[in-house]
Amino acid sequence: MELKGSCHCEKVSFKVLSHTPAPFMQCYCSICRKCQGGGGYAINIMGQYKTLEILTGKEYLKGYQAMKDKKKKELGGNIRYFCSECGSHLYAYDKQWAEWVYPFASAIDTPLPQLDPKTQVYKIMLDSKANWVDVPDPNKEAHAFEAYPDCSLEQWHKDNGQYIE
Ligand SMILES: [Zn+2]
Ligand SMILES: [Zn+2]
Repeated sequence: MELKGSCHCEKVSFKVLSHTPAPFMQCYCSICRKCQGGGGYAINIMGQYKTLEILTGKEYLKGYQAMKDKKKKELGGNIRYFCSECGSHLYAYDKQWAEWVYPFASAIDTPLPQLDPKTQVYKIMLDSKANWVDVPDPNKEAHAFEAYPDCSLEQWHKDNGQYIE
């Protein structure tokens, strides 16, 4: 399906095709929390990079490459693109997975599938969550993970009947 997205000030807009538009994976890592702001987690969905088209505001688009390891000054491969005018984060791209682009669910204007929070939503990177965030115990809850989840974004969509050809 085609997903359309934009930043809050509407200077930057884009579209991308996606087989995997369900916003099921809440990431509680420190980068997602700081970069997205305001809450305990961020949600990425996945689109096909070769179909990504910046419709307006290319000149406002900026990329941020976070340190994976601050002590070793090691950069992560993931670059997060955001609007330099209003600060909205739009999508992430990592050339290690060059086929895909990872729009933030918050940037998408096209209605996304609504999921069952009890059985379908995953909570990941709970090892680095903020102490004020209330989340399930990864040892007790099947859909909560200390680090990465037990299946790929694509596999989850297939298993949950959300994959769109
Ligand atoms: Zn903006
Ligand atoms: Zn994260």
